[in-house]
Amino acid sequence: APKISRPAIRQLDDAAINRIAAGEVVERPASAVKELVENTIDAGSTRIDVAYADGGKTLIRVTDDGCGIPAEDLPLAMSRHATSKIDGSDLLDIHTFGFRGEALPSLGAVGRLTITSRCDGAAASIRVAGGKAEPVRPAALSRGTVVELRDLFFATPARLKFLRTDRAEAQAITDVVKRLAMAEPHIGFTLRDVSGGGEGRVTFRAAPENGDLFDALHARLGGVLGRDFAENAVPLDALREGFRLTGYAALPTYSRGAAVAQFLFVNGRPVRDKLLIGALRGAYADFLSRDRHPAAALFVTCDPKLVDVNVHPAKSEVRFREPGLVRGLIVTTIRHALAEAGHRASSTVAQ
Ligand code: ADP
Ligand code: MG
Repeated sequence: APKISRPAIRQLDDAAINRIAAGEVVERPASAVKELVENTIDAGSTRIDVAYADGGKTLIRVTDDGCGIPAEDLPLAMSRHATSKIDGSDLLDIHTFGFRGEALPSLGAVGRLTITSRCDGAAASIRVAGGKAEPVRPAALSRGTVVELRDLFFATPARLKFLRTDRAEAQAITDVVKRLAMAEPHIGFTLRDVSGGGEGRVTFRAAPENGDLFDALHARLGGVLGRDFAENAVPLDALREGFRLTGYAALPTYSRGAAVAQFLFVNGRPVRDKLLIGALRGAYADFLSRDRHPAAALFVTCDPKLVDVNVHPAKSEVRFREPGLVRGLIVTTIRHALAEAGHRASSTVAQ
């Protein structure tokens, strides 16, 4: 019988492996911004500046005042599955945004990435473009880290073709920064469009260090979603068997034609989790017609051991140990708060 020819099995090189992984972690400029801003928060930053040009396609620059990266660790930070955030022994006890050690090598594989950072010693920088790293060089920086990503997806032209207009990509970047800003009211954020003729600039000022967390959240909510939302929303605060729900639910009259004003967080991590979205919809089922979408900011907090965040590379979905309990907590708490608000409103009218 004729012999069937087959190619040999080969181990892919690091650049190829990173490009493949990047497909899952970095879908569009906004996903790069999400990874970079999450890194700045994990680094304990108090001020974070995000600048981008052309919808993030040509430039994304994230500057922070966090702990920095020691010069000798820069090559490691750029290599796959290298992280300072977990030791790998307990994936159910995660307190940081990052833990997979994938973002920086992925970004370096599909774009031109330069990291300049200063920890305790002298500042240094490293450059990786299309998966090729250059040696670490001395640099000038007084503190923190500057990560600059140019020409995202230049190394993967197929992905480049799927990007939307600069405007749509800029909108997605703004949405990501808003979500993270809502989770971190004690951090000051600026977001700037520095395209030629650069227009847009958004600033969220940091809440006072030792103030009340609810006040801080409310102020940030007003800053992010508008005073209108903050004034038309009822506060939530309920506890059930180790799960706490805080946040704000807007009055049904403040609903939207699309689900654009739903901000969901699990242990401070912005998520787009089906369970939470469904619970929110369920809570408003009696108050809204099917084509209207409630506006709300929900923060679920619990022991990290009660929720698995290692479900998806982008970490936008989670798995709760007790989904029924979480759903019940959300539905009952919001219904109760809305009913009370309704009562108050009608009794004012009656007076
Ligand atoms: P992960 O966040 O999952 O650890 P990353 O690839 O995003 O993986 O980052 C790799 C490592 O680089 C981090 O674990 C951290 O030690 C370091 N790092 C990245 N960004 C920053 C930053 N802005 N400030 C300080 N350290 C950083
Ligand atoms: Mg990270």
